[in-house]
Amino acid sequence: MPAGGRSIRTKQCLRIQRRLAALESELETTRERVRRLENTLREAVRTADDVSIGGPCSCGESLLLVRDRTLYCPECRYRRTV
Ligand SMILES: [Zn+2]
Repeated sequence: MPAGGRSIRTKQCLRIQRRLAALESELETTRERVRRLENTLREAVRTADDVSIGGPCSCGESLLLVRDRTLYCPECRYRRTV
């Protein structure tokens, strides 16, 4: 094995560990953000008249909203009467 082999691998390993730690921290931040949004949205929908939330839209950018017997996506043009 070349003399530098081990230290190169150690450097790569440290880089991966740092990247992983950064991702874990990012994931935790995202989790908190989603939880806050869910709690806020649940209350906003509960107190709004005649609005409810359906499943995810096929565009993947939003959940569907149901209002006045119409299912619609606020992000794309999808709209359907229910
Ligand atoms: Zn959509």
